[in-house]
Amino acid sequence: MAKAPARAAVLKGMRAALRLQRDLGLDQAGARGHRVDVFGAIYRQNVPLLFRKLEPLLGAYLREEGNPGIILTTRRPLGQQRFTAAHELGHHVLNHDPHADDDSILRRSPDLAGDYMNLPPAEQEADAFASYFLLPDWLITTLMQRQHWTPQHLQHSDIVYQLALRVGASYRATLYALVRNKVIGAGIRQQLAKAQPATIKRALVPDHTIESTQNIDVWHLTERDEGAVIEAGRDDLFVVKLREDSNSGYLWNFDELQNAGFARWSFI
Ligand SMILES: [Zn+2]
Repeated sequence: MAKAPARAAVLKGMRAALRLQRDLGLDQAGARGHRVDVFGAIYRQNVPLLFRKLEPLLGAYLREEGNPGIILTTRRPLGQQRFTAAHELGHHVLNHDPHADDDSILRRSPDLAGDYMNLPPAEQEADAFASYFLLPDWLITTLMQRQHWTPQHLQHSDIVYQLALRVGASYRATLYALVRNKVIGAGIRQQLAKAQPATIKRALVPDHTIESTQNIDVWHLTERDEGAVIEAGRDDLFVVKLREDSNSGYLWNFDELQNAGFARWSFI
């Protein structure tokens, strides 16, 4: 098996992603722990970003008479848009030729070997760029510390899903990054990959009927999310589990949430 080309492509994509994060200050103290602002990064590279109803394409990197541009479909959930955006940004940063991408970019990964080796090197490089740009090791480490998640916790699909929400990547892309970062092993990843996000979401809100989970995420928020910026979709659900103890001054006021437009359906 010819492993060398993929390894070289992964290294090239990784280095470009880490360099851009450093140049944009994304890995600095204040920004650490927040999901990487990929759309902002494209803007700061002076690359016009357009959203269109593309189907079946997810996105494309364009260059018209030397002028770069990135186009993304509106017909996908935010996590997939963000990954596509990072992949197209990779094409730009790595000086690739214009390229259009369909949803195979979401399914493939270097550790699946086989067909992956037959991909053009530019695609392998853009994939690696996207993974390292959205899911850098420092972001995973920071979130694990903040949430008190150990590698053992991350052997559970529901915790991996909560990590995926906070980094703004798909469940699958998050699993891949956890293996890469040696938090979980490849065998655990294979097991966890069988879990369906729809099942995980429904398990979090057993008393609530969700017709379609495709465009809805279910956030499990605790005190450990205090101060974090939660970038949620408009239909997302929040399960808030907080300690309440009037003797020690822990009293929560939910009126503010309702005033901010949140619908409340129950408190446990
Ligand atoms: Zn591509």
